[in-house]
Amino acid sequence: MTKDYYGVLGVDKKASKDNNKKAFRKLARKYHPDVDPGDKASEQKFKEINEAYEVLSDSKKRQQYDQFGHAAFDQGFGQGAGTGQGFEGFPGGAEQFGARGFEDIFGNMFGERVRPRGPRKGEDITYAVEVDLEDAIFGKTMQVDLRRDVTCSACGGSGAQPGTSRRTCPTCMGSGSVSQGRGFMQMAQPCPTCHGEGTINPNPCRTCGGSGVIPKSERINVKIPPGVDNGSKVRMAGLGGPGEKGGPPGDAYIVTKVRAHPYFERKGDNLYSEAAVTVKEAALGEKIEIPTVDGMVSLSLPEGVQTGQQLKLRGKGVPHLGGGGVGDHYVTIKVVTPTGVSERGKELLQELDHMHPSNPRREITFRGFRKRT
Ligand SMILES: [Zn+2]
Ligand SMILES: [Zn+2]
Repeated sequence: MTKDYYGVLGVDKKASKDNNKKAFRKLARKYHPDVDPGDKASEQKFKEINEAYEVLSDSKKRQQYDQFGHAAFDQGFGQGAGTGQGFEGFPGGAEQFGARGFEDIFGNMFGERVRPRGPRKGEDITYAVEVDLEDAIFGKTMQVDLRRDVTCSACGGSGAQPGTSRRTCPTCMGSGSVSQGRGFMQMAQPCPTCHGEGTINPNPCRTCGGSGVIPKSERINVKIPPGVDNGSKVRMAGLGGPGEKGGPPGDAYIVTKVRAHPYFERKGDNLYSEAAVTVKEAALGEKIEIPTVDGMVSLSLPEGVQTGQQLKLRGKGVPHLGGGGVGDHYVTIKVVTPTGVSERGKELLQELDHMHPSNPRREITFRGFRKRT
């Protein structure tokens, strides 16, 4: 499915969490399979709504979706080789949904709010950034656009218009839940009036519309330290989602993905590259110039070096994240056979073979498996 999630919910790109939730609930009520069993179109629509909401209700996923689109949830996206901390996958496929019923969805949604809660720290928000290998090695200050909700300063997050206050919910008398059923089958349900909050808000704050939060976009400078790899996290304290009921805001995490480099391959703190050498250079063990991340470096080949041999350039790799040494650069040798050899060249090669007779295949005396029929 490659639908626009905002379009599916019919909300604006800047819609707040509350707006998304309202839109989702409205649509979910309309299209839930229990409403019109067997209606395939509704069922499909319901899957789409659910998928869209799973992404847009989660700040982390929403940010990834905004930045990378559906690709953000493709398998393998941003999977880190080094740290194993890759981006989290996207668990909510449409297929998974079938088993979940009406109660599951709305139950969960309210369930977490059955008891009025105290102050809570805001949620952490993850932002994915891509950096070049050079920046991963030397560090970089980069600009990141943060988009989050912050506590409304007009009402202090209560959602009540200044000068007014929230009131105890008349339905549940502040408990946040109501009882349903008879006898010993009584079950506590989230209060339908206050959705478990225990209070109602008769005069919503005009600045935030009663949600207690306002969206904030901000461009900040983030210092990417030397040594980051795929999945490395840079914490920006206090720049996450708003705290609830006076709690502190969450944190923002800048998660790095390092772009592949055409010349250097990275594994952890080490770098790898290949160097093509001539037969002469390999046989005589000459000095060759090797590109490294610190520029050209002279490397002395050992006499008679062979294709596939790895030579180490100490300390020319990636600095360890957070300090503690620098990795190495390994150069894999590839001996290049001369082509288009002239008559004179052929003579010289023959002569060379006579002077230094060698049979690299002398160990091999295999007779074959059996006769073909
Ligand atoms: Zn407000
Ligand atoms: Zn209530």
